[in-house]
Amino acid sequence: SNSSEVAVFVRIRPTAHFATDLIECLPDEQTVNIYHRKDSKKGQRSSWSFRLEGVLQNVSQEEVYAKVCRRVVLGALDGYNGTVMCFGQTGAGKTYTMTGSTESYKQRGIIPRALQEVFQEVEKRTEYAYSLHMSYLEIYNETLVDLLSSLRGTPHLSPRDMVVMEEPGRGVFIRGLSLHPVHSEEEALNLLFEGEMNRIIGCHTLNRNSSRSHCIFTVHIESRSRTLSDAKYITSKLNLVDLAGSERLGKTGSEGQMLKEAMYIHKSLSFLEQAILALGDRRRDHVPFRQTKLTHALKDSLGGNCNTVLVANIYGEAVQIKETLSTLRFASRMKCVRTDPAVNEHQDP
Ligand code: ADP
Repeated sequence: SNSSEVAVFVRIRPTAHFATDLIECLPDEQTVNIYHRKDSKKGQRSSWSFRLEGVLQNVSQEEVYAKVCRRVVLGALDGYNGTVMCFGQTGAGKTYTMTGSTESYKQRGIIPRALQEVFQEVEKRTEYAYSLHMSYLEIYNETLVDLLSSLRGTPHLSPRDMVVMEEPGRGVFIRGLSLHPVHSEEEALNLLFEGEMNRIIGCHTLNRNSSRSHCIFTVHIESRSRTLSDAKYITSKLNLVDLAGSERLGKTGSEGQMLKEAMYIHKSLSFLEQAILALGDRRRDHVPFRQTKLTHALKDSLGGNCNTVLVANIYGEAVQIKETLSTLRFASRMKCVRTDPAVNEHQDP
């Protein structure tokens, strides 16, 4: 079969104060060692070694896209669901990796590059007729927010009646989430920009911190052969996910809204971990997808039937070493999981 592991990468945010004594990247570009003083008085150092698909240090946005996402994009155009997720503490570079910086074209992130490649490929693959739609979902404290709904004339800030649904043959979908047809890269980028703006405005208006929500950008792909006149068609989803900051808040100082946010994030990230781990364990027949909106929304795009990539974003600085260690531990637990991608073929009635 097509069995593949969840591909896990680590990306290190460049810094002027890289902790060379605590973080060691081996020349194989797959291993990162962490040294951490457990007890500074005794001078004892503990060490951990993590071997992953790739360690991305001083790697350009273009190279990150090529290593992390290209395979998933091409797979999605062939009919395999795919998910690329960025995980890590706030400030470590998730949004930079996923969306990029608006400062320069070179600093575009995974999403705009994926859109460019999707449309280039659709042009090339003349034997197929493709139909593409986009959606952009934000999950904040287990509430679903449609980042593109304002385009339909409905105020995006009013909570809408959105529900994660499942139907045989159709898989998982979100009732109430707007799907927008896209015919060109430019059209898709405009929608993406609109969604980013709505996210910023929404956070501002509702006094939310944007690092406290998960964002799922999805390209919905449908294709039919132009040469075979049978009624078969293929559908797939490409999910590009910017997860909420994974940092654990200190016990003091976090109360009210912040505490509530932290609890929701902790719950959804730990269920994400449990769901991915359970997928890799063939003896387990129950995978706890429905426990949170995040895992439920990603259910058919995480394991079993798709390509899954996780980018663990870390700081290279000594002060962040505890969170770095916890991010790398999460990452290395994920890499043991195998998935079995399969094409989603349908037949017109
Ligand atoms: P997160 O989404 O994890 O909270 P951001 O992506 O917002 O973190 O990154 C925090 C800051 O660091 C941003 O100003 C971003 O532009 C910068 N940054 C992150 N990663 C890189 C990188 N690889 N190269 C250059 N700047 C980066």
